[in-house]
Order: sequence, then structure tokens, then C-alpha cells
Amino acid sequence: MMKLSYDEAVAKIKENSRLSETEIASNINAKLEQFAGLVSREGAAHILANELGIKLIDAQAVGKLKVSNIIAGMQNVEVLTKVLAVFPVRQFNSNGRQGQVGSSILGDETGTIRAVFWNEQANKLGFINKGDVLKLKGVYVKENRNNTLELHFNERSMMVVNPPGETVEAGEFRRESPRKRISEIADTDAFVEVFGTVIDVFDLRFFEVCGKCGRRAKPENGAFLCQQHGPVANPGYSYVLNVFLDDGTAAVRTVFFRNTAEKFLKKTGEELLAFREAPESFEQVKNDSLGSFLKINARVNKNEMFNRIELIANDVSEAKPEDAQVTEAATTAVAATADPAFSENAEAESIQESNIETSNIMDDGGSNETVK
Ligand SMILES: [Zn+2]
Repeated sequence: MMKLSYDEAVAKIKENSRLSETEIASNINAKLEQFAGLVSREGAAHILANELGIKLIDAQAVGKLKVSNIIAGMQNVEVLTKVLAVFPVRQFNSNGRQGQVGSSILGDETGTIRAVFWNEQANKLGFINKGDVLKLKGVYVKENRNNTLELHFNERSMMVVNPPGETVEAGEFRRESPRKRISEIADTDAFVEVFGTVIDVFDLRFFEVCGKCGRRAKPENGAFLCQQHGPVANPGYSYVLNVFLDDGTAAVRTVFFRNTAEKFLKKTGEELLAFREAPESFEQVKNDSLGSFLKINARVNKNEMFNRIELIANDVSEAKPEDAQVTEAATTAVAATADPAFSENAEAESIQESNIETSNIMDDGGSNETVK
């Protein structure tokens, strides 16, 4: 990590203020006392600099960096990376804010970082593909709620795709997906691996999708509208399945969209679509899948409306109870070595489709609110 030392910080404060070195030192000591051991000397120097309006990390001086040297708060970063994953742009409309956001994972030989593209910046994602070399200039760095760093763009940011003569070595993007007991899943978890028994299966829900992009087409004034492609004349259908998964510590609602629903139910898309016309015949499928023991890799979703955690399955497979045997001591080892069999398509689909109103599609009413 790139950090300014105490001496460098003091020098910078001296250079940019009217304070003498002694005054700076006594100010920093006062901060140390004020924070009663909660900050380091460097930290106290940073606080003083902030109060004086002095930027310790010079925006202009950041310049060209390796990914591992990027830290929160940096402005005007230049970095040469490789695109390791691109996720689809999704539309949002919440609390009066409307817009779109997309992201991608970038990396070089030193590490990986997520790049987030808001609103009109998200159109940039249409120009990049996995494997491209990306030269970024004038991007800034933010720390998100999960304490991970993100690159963000503004009007002055520049992006060059596959600049001539530039190559980047980077590893594969491996998403961390620690194995957890259901009761241990926190809303700060992004992805988890859980084992559990299917204790409840709900009816398949069908919803209209745009024939061009496969995203949900929302009913509006008797027609169906794709956010991107406008009115959809002959919408196709996709489906979502909710189940409750229990591992003995708790139960959690788990949502299976299209591909994962097919995999879980061992049915083809065609077979599942047939239940739209004959929902009563789905009862047998429900009964057959009750009691299945599953291994799930999932994204953790906080359902704000019901203030509960849900899982959006990215992958599902049948498991044996002994696979799930994790002693306390082994937990960290397993989490560290687990290969979540990362599937970009699955993630792409779940992010895209889980963006649809959870209240409409993912919820099966209040009948199960007591199950936690
Ligand atoms: Zn569309």
C-alpha cells in the first residue's frame, strides 16, 4: 500500500500552511490525545491536514499506478489493466433516483479492482470485453460499503481500449465465496457458499422478457416495455423459483432464476415454460424436490422491503450431508481454498434479473414471513 509517512505528512503540512514544525507537532499531539489511541501518528497528521484543507495525496501527483498501489481517496489515477470480467448494466429506480450502473473487474500483475460505471458512464461498458487491455486516466478511487476499493469515472476520465503496443499480465478473477452457515450470513457478505435442505418450494413465477436482450419487459399501459429497447411486441418468458433452504442453524429464502432453476429442478427451459400453461402439474415437481440437499453458491441480497437476507443462487448442485461437514477449525481453510466455480453468465443473469422489483416477482406473499 502506498502511504505517506509521518515525516512526509508533516513536511507537506508545513509547506502548505503557516504553521511551524513545533506547532504542527503539538497540533498532532493534541489530535492523538483527542482520539485516545484510536489513531496512529500518521493518522493524526492526516486528520490535521484535512482540517487545514491540505491534500496529503496530491491529486496530480498520483499518476500511473499499479493496481495494488491504489488507495481510497485518490483522484486522477492512471492505470493500465486487463479486463477480467464485465457485468451487465442494470437500471435502477429507487428512492426517487433513477439511472443505470454497470461494473467490471480489472486487474494487472499486482491485483484486481472493481470499476463502477454510473449512468452515462455505463455506456462505456458496451465497448469493453473480457481480455481487453484498458488504459484508464483521470479515474478516482472510492471505498464501498464492504470496504473494498472501486474505480469511478467522471467527465474528465479517459478510457482507451487496447492501446497499441500495451500488454498486461493478470490472473483470473476469482470471486471470494466463503462457506457459511445460514445463521452466519450477514448483509455485508457479497457471496457465500451454503449447504442446506430444501424445506419449501414455491410455484414458478413467469415474467415477460424482451426478445432482444432477455431482460424483463415491464407491463405498462397494456404493453410491455424493455428499458433499453422500448415496446416489446412479442415478449418471451423467463421464470424464477423461490425455495427455503435450511441447514439446521436457520432457513433462508433462495431465489433461482432461469438457468439455476433448470439446474435445480433438472428440467429444460422448454419443460419449465410448459408449466406456465399447466401450473397444476408443477405440484409433482415441487414435491420431488422437497428434501433435496443442495450446495449453493449465491449472491447475498438484502431485501429492504422485508428487512431480511435472501440468496440469489449463481450455481447449485446436489450434495451429500458429509460434504457440508465443516468443523470450526476447518472453516477458514475451506473458505480460503474453495473454488466457487465462478460463472460469469450466472452472475450476469442474476444481477440483471434480480434488479426486477423483488416485491412483484421474488416474493410469494406473506405466508412465509415467519420463517427466518
Ligand atoms: Zn431489450
